[in-house]
Amino acid sequence: MTGQQRPLSAQRIAPVAVGHRPLRPLWLCRRCGQPWPCGAARLALVAEYQDCPVSLFIYLAGCLHDAIDDLHRLNPSETGSAADIFDRFLGWPARHTRAYRVTPARASGIEEATS
Ligand SMILES: [Zn+2]
Repeated sequence: MTGQQRPLSAQRIAPVAVGHRPLRPLWLCRRCGQPWPCGAARLALVAEYQDCPVSLFIYLAGCLHDAIDDLHRLNPSETGSAADIFDRFLGWPARHTRAYRVTPARASGIEEATS
Protein backbone atom coordinates (compact mmCIF):
# COMPACT_ATOMS: atom_id res chain seq x y z
CA MET A 1 0.00 0.00 0.00
CA THR A 2 1.35 3.42 -0.93
CA GLY A 3 0.69 6.72 0.79
CA GLN A 4 -1.42 7.36 3.81
CA GLN A 5 -5.11 6.56 3.57
CA ARG A 6 -7.65 8.95 4.97
CA PRO A 7 -9.63 7.64 7.92
CA LEU A 8 -13.02 6.19 6.95
CA SER A 9 -14.92 8.82 8.94
CA ALA A 10 -13.28 11.64 6.97
CA GLN A 11 -14.32 9.98 3.71
CA ARG A 12 -17.92 9.96 4.86
CA ILE A 13 -18.19 13.74 4.80
CA ALA A 14 -20.38 14.42 1.79
CA PRO A 15 -19.97 17.55 -0.29
CA VAL A 16 -22.71 19.39 1.55
CA ALA A 17 -23.69 22.95 0.65
CA VAL A 18 -20.55 24.95 0.19
CA GLY A 19 -19.12 25.73 3.56
CA HIS A 20 -21.94 24.20 5.64
CA ARG A 21 -19.84 21.24 6.68
CA PRO A 22 -19.24 19.95 10.19
CA LEU A 23 -16.37 21.31 12.22
CA ARG A 24 -15.11 18.29 14.07
CA PRO A 25 -14.86 17.39 16.88
CA LEU A 26 -17.35 20.07 17.93
CA TRP A 27 -19.91 19.14 15.26
CA LEU A 28 -20.80 22.76 14.64
CA CYS A 29 -21.29 24.17 11.14
CA ARG A 30 -18.07 25.66 9.77
CA ARG A 31 -19.98 28.47 8.13
CA CYS A 32 -22.87 29.49 10.40
CA GLY A 33 -21.79 28.02 13.76
CA GLN A 34 -25.07 26.19 14.35
CA PRO A 35 -25.13 22.56 15.48
CA TRP A 36 -24.49 20.45 12.38
CA PRO A 37 -26.44 19.61 10.29
CA CYS A 38 -27.66 23.21 10.20
CA GLY A 39 -30.67 24.24 8.11
CA ALA A 40 -28.59 24.91 4.99
CA ALA A 41 -26.80 21.58 5.35
CA ARG A 42 -30.12 19.77 5.76
CA LEU A 43 -31.49 21.35 2.59
CA ALA A 44 -28.34 20.43 0.69
CA LEU A 45 -28.39 16.86 2.01
CA VAL A 46 -32.05 16.36 1.07
CA ALA A 47 -31.32 17.67 -2.43
CA GLU A 48 -28.17 15.57 -2.78
CA TYR A 49 -29.87 12.35 -1.68
CA GLN A 50 -33.31 12.96 -3.19
CA ASP A 51 -33.03 9.89 -5.42
CA CYS A 52 -31.81 7.61 -2.62
CA PRO A 53 -33.11 8.65 0.80
CA VAL A 54 -31.91 5.42 2.40
CA SER A 55 -28.33 6.47 1.59
CA LEU A 56 -28.98 9.74 3.42
CA PHE A 57 -29.91 7.80 6.55
CA ILE A 58 -26.83 5.60 6.24
CA TYR A 59 -24.61 8.66 5.82
CA LEU A 60 -26.20 10.46 8.77
CA ALA A 61 -26.03 7.34 10.95
CA GLY A 62 -22.27 7.31 10.34
CA CYS A 63 -22.10 10.98 11.25
CA LEU A 64 -24.11 10.32 14.41
CA HIS A 65 -21.69 7.57 15.41
CA ASP A 66 -18.70 9.84 14.83
CA ALA A 67 -20.36 12.75 16.68
CA ILE A 68 -21.08 10.59 19.73
CA ASP A 69 -17.43 9.51 19.82
CA ASP A 70 -16.08 13.04 19.29
CA LEU A 71 -18.39 14.76 21.77
CA HIS A 72 -17.79 12.11 24.40
CA ARG A 73 -14.03 12.50 23.98
CA LEU A 74 -14.33 16.28 24.39
CA ASN A 75 -16.43 16.08 27.53
CA PRO A 76 -16.84 12.56 28.98
CA SER A 77 -18.74 13.80 32.03
CA GLU A 78 -21.54 15.37 29.97
CA THR A 79 -23.57 12.70 28.23
CA GLY A 80 -26.39 14.88 26.93
CA SER A 81 -29.69 13.49 25.77
CA ALA A 82 -29.59 10.45 23.50
CA ALA A 83 -32.98 11.47 22.11
CA ASP A 84 -31.74 14.96 21.26
CA ILE A 85 -28.63 13.83 19.40
CA PHE A 86 -30.57 11.09 17.60
CA ASP A 87 -33.15 13.64 16.50
CA ARG A 88 -30.42 16.07 15.44
CA PHE A 89 -28.92 13.57 13.01
CA LEU A 90 -31.67 11.09 12.08
CA GLY A 91 -35.01 12.45 13.30
CA TRP A 92 -35.38 15.35 10.89
CA PRO A 93 -35.04 13.42 7.63
CA ALA A 94 -37.47 10.79 8.92
CA ARG A 95 -40.07 13.54 9.34
CA HIS A 96 -39.47 14.93 5.84
CA THR A 97 -38.62 11.87 3.77
CA ARG A 98 -41.52 9.64 2.95
CA ALA A 99 -40.15 7.87 -0.12
CA TYR A 100 -39.02 4.78 1.79
CA ARG A 101 -42.21 4.39 3.83
CA VAL A 102 -45.22 2.23 3.11
CA THR A 103 -48.16 4.14 4.47
CA PRO A 104 -51.44 2.43 5.36
CA ALA A 105 -53.15 4.39 2.54
CA ARG A 106 -50.61 3.15 -0.03
CA ALA A 107 -50.76 -0.37 1.34
CA SER A 108 -54.58 -0.47 1.16
CA GLY A 109 -54.39 1.03 -2.33
CA ILE A 110 -52.17 -1.85 -3.38
CA GLU A 111 -54.63 -4.35 -1.93
CA GLU A 112 -57.53 -2.68 -3.75
CA ALA A 113 -55.61 -2.64 -7.02
CA THR A 114 -54.77 -6.34 -6.80
CA SER A 115 -58.21 -7.59 -5.73
ZN1 LIG B 1 -24.44 26.10 8.43
